[in-house]
Amino acid sequence: MLMPAPEKEILAQRSMLIDELRKIIPGEGVIVDETSLRAYECDGLTAYRQLPMVAVLPETTAQVSAVLKLCDRMNVKVVPRGAGTSLSGGALPLADGVLLGLGKFNRVLDIDWDNRCAVVQPGVTNLGITRAVEHRGFYYAPDPSSQIACTIGGNVAENSGGVHCLKYGLTTNNILGVEMVLMNGEVVRLGGKHLDAGGYDLLGVICGSEGLLGVITEVTVRILPKPATQRALLAGFPTSEAGGDCVAKIIAAGIIPGGMEMMDRPAIHAAEDFVHAGYPRDVEALLIIELDGPAAEVDDLLLRVRAIADACGAVTCRVSESEDERLTFWAGRKAAFPAVGRISPDYLCMDGTIPRKALPEVLTRMGQLSEKHGLRVANVFHAGDGNLHPLILYDANNPGELARAEEFGADILRLCVEVGGVLTGEHGVGVEKRDLMPVMFSEDDLAQQQRLKCAFDPNHRLNPGKVFPVLHRCAELGRMHVHKGKLAFPDLPRF
Ligand SMILES: Cc1cc2nc3c(=O)[nH]c(=O)nc-3n(C[C@H](O)[C@H](O)[C@H](O)COP(=O)(O)OP(=O)(O)OC[C@H]3O[C@@H](n4cnc5c(N)ncnc54)[C@H](O)[C@@H]3O)c2cc1C
Repeated sequence: MLMPAPEKEILAQRSMLIDELRKIIPGEGVIVDETSLRAYECDGLTAYRQLPMVAVLPETTAQVSAVLKLCDRMNVKVVPRGAGTSLSGGALPLADGVLLGLGKFNRVLDIDWDNRCAVVQPGVTNLGITRAVEHRGFYYAPDPSSQIACTIGGNVAENSGGVHCLKYGLTTNNILGVEMVLMNGEVVRLGGKHLDAGGYDLLGVICGSEGLLGVITEVTVRILPKPATQRALLAGFPTSEAGGDCVAKIIAAGIIPGGMEMMDRPAIHAAEDFVHAGYPRDVEALLIIELDGPAAEVDDLLLRVRAIADACGAVTCRVSESEDERLTFWAGRKAAFPAVGRISPDYLCMDGTIPRKALPEVLTRMGQLSEKHGLRVANVFHAGDGNLHPLILYDANNPGELARAEEFGADILRLCVEVGGVLTGEHGVGVEKRDLMPVMFSEDDLAQQQRLKCAFDPNHRLNPGKVFPVLHRCAELGRMHVHKGKLAFPDLPRF
C-alpha cells in the first residue's frame, strides 16, 4: 500500500517546526521522542504502521487553529486523530506529517435538556455522552461496539454506526452542529442547536469526511429519552439463507426493530466461548432482534417477530426476561471482534454494505472465496441495514498471509459492489479501501469528490493519502488527460 512519499524539504524543517509548535502548545503537548510517538504509529488497522514526524495534543480551538495555520504556512501535512480505533487506517500517521490528537478535548460543555441536545468536545467518548445524560433518562443513540473508547469527533469523521442505528439513524442523523477549523486556521461553525441550517447541507458533507476537510473541535448532538422497555429475542436458524429471509420479512412487515444483528456459526462459537451469552451452538445463523418502546407495543411486536421467525424455520427462539438477560444477549455480539481475536492471531475486519435481499448469495459466495484464498472468515453484521463485517482470520507470522487476507477482503468488497451495494457501511475508506474506490466510482465521480476537498483544503495538507486512490493537485482537476502518452503535471507525487 503506497502512501505519498515523504517530502525531504519538510523533513529537513523538523526542528524549526518543533520550535514553532512549542510556542503554540507549551508543556508536554508537543511529542517528539520516538518512544512516545510509538503510541500513535497506527490505529485499529494495525497492519499498517508509521511513526509521525511529530505529534501535538492541543487543548483549545485557538491552539488547533494556530497549529493548522503554521502547518499551512510551512506546507506540512496534518493527520487528525481521536482515540485511534478506526478500522480503515484513517488516523494512520505520515512520516512527514504532524499527528494532531484531540484527546485533551474531553469535556461536556453544555447539556440543554429543553432542546434535547448536548454540546461536547470532540475527544469525549461516545459512551461518555450517554453517561453524562443518563441520570435524567436520556442517551446518545448511535452505539459503535467501540463506544467505550472511540470519540465523538472520530464518530463524526467516520459517520459511525452501531447496533441501534437501524431505527435511530447513524451519526449524521444525530448531530446538529459542529465547530471546526480549516487548514488555513479559520474557525467555522455549521449548524447549531436548531434543526436544519440554511444553505447547503455542509454538516452532511463534514459527517463522514474522514479528517480530510477540517478538524472538528466541538459537536452538538441530539440526546433521546431512553425507551420505556427494551427486550431482545435470540433466534437460531439452520441456514444463513433462512436467517436472511427472516430479516427481510420483518422489515417487509413494517417492523423496525431497535437493532437486528446476525452472526454466522464461526462468530457464534467464538462469542459464546468468550462471553457465555447462552447462544445456541448448533445453528448456522443467529439473529438478535431488539424491540423497544412502550411495554404493550413491545409485547405485541415480540409476538409478531416470533411468528415470522417460526415461519422462516427458526430452530430456537428465546426472549429476554430481564434487563440482565437482554444485556447478556448483546454482550456476545458486542464482544464478537475480541472473541474472534482469541481464535486467530490476526484478523482483518471488513466493512461493506449490500441490499438485504442479496445476503444469502453474498454469504454463499463468501464461503467460496474463503476456500479460494485458503483463509477462514467469521461474519458479524448489522443485518437490518445490510452492513456486513466479515472478519478474515490470518496469521501475520506466516509469510504472504496478510497479502492473501487483503486480496480476500478486496474480493468481498468487489462482491458487495457487484450485487448493488457499497464499499463501506460505517468504518470509512481510509487507506484500507482507498485503492478500491474506482470499483465503485468513475474517474469523473472521483474528480468531483476531490473538487469538494479542494474547496476546503486547496493544498491537500489535511490527511492526504486517505480516501482518494490518486492524488490530484486542485489546479489540474478538470483538465486531467493524457496526451500522446504524456501525463499532465508529471512532477506531481502520485501514489
Ligand atoms: C473493536 C472495534 C469495534 C468497532 N465497532 C464499530 C462499530 O460498531 N461501528 C462503527 O461505525 N465503527 C466501529 N469501529 C470503528 C471505530 O471505532 C470508529 O470508526 C470510530 O468512529 C473512530 O473513532 P476514533 O475516535 O477512534 O477516531 P480515530 O480512529 O482516531 O480517527 C478516525 C478518523 O477520523 C478522523 N478524526 C478523528 N477525530 C477527528 C476530529 N476531531 N476532526 C476531524 N477528523 C477527525 C481521523 O483523521 C480519521 O480519519 C470499531 C472499532 C473497533 C476497534
